[in-house]
Amino acid sequence: MARYLGPVCRLCRREGAKLFLKGDRCYTSKCSYERKPYSPGMHGKKKGKMSDYALQLREKQKVRRIYGMLEKAFVTQFDQASAGKGVTADMFFRRLELRFDNVAFRMGFAGNRNEARQLITHGHFMVNGKPCNIPSMSMKVGDTVTLKAASKKLASLGKAREIYLRRPPVAWIEVDEPSLTGKVTSLPKRDDIQLPVQDHMIVELYSK
Ligand code: SF4
Repeated sequence: MARYLGPVCRLCRREGAKLFLKGDRCYTSKCSYERKPYSPGMHGKKKGKMSDYALQLREKQKVRRIYGMLEKAFVTQFDQASAGKGVTADMFFRRLELRFDNVAFRMGFAGNRNEARQLITHGHFMVNGKPCNIPSMSMKVGDTVTLKAASKKLASLGKAREIYLRRPPVAWIEVDEPSLTGKVTSLPKRDDIQLPVQDHMIVELYSK
């Protein structure tokens, strides 16, 4: 399945929740979902009863869209989480959070995960002092992320830092502001990940 390249605000309206896919705009009254909190399209305002499967599917799509992942990679993360020890949903969200693109976004080096992914593939970051351009790489406790010296002048960085300072702090990450270096200090717990998602629905969907 190809990556979605259409208007991202449409995805929030489709899922009936703010997914914070745009960055700065999401925190202003210009947010499309706040102005039009119903599904896009001619019949968007009509609400029918949804089946259990449809509810589970929508919940899964919401998470997949938040992290901007393709279905195949998303399912792989779920399968690996369910094969390991611990509560499947907790392990699944931990795996999603520890992806390099998400970590760079959480550290405030990009305004949204899509931008983080683009900056990573364009080679703007160093992980533990070495260049890294793999957005799906899984980070570990103790890993450090910093922008290359030339990349600290990026115009997008100022806006990303503003958004970062406006968001609630992330418990499992530390960012040294002067050097713009972030560190993963602990493993993310489910309670640290504030997402409007009913985990059990995703587990039920993929466990069929
Ligand atoms: Fe979603 Fe952000 Fe667009 Fe609002 S502005 S609809 S939160 S992507």
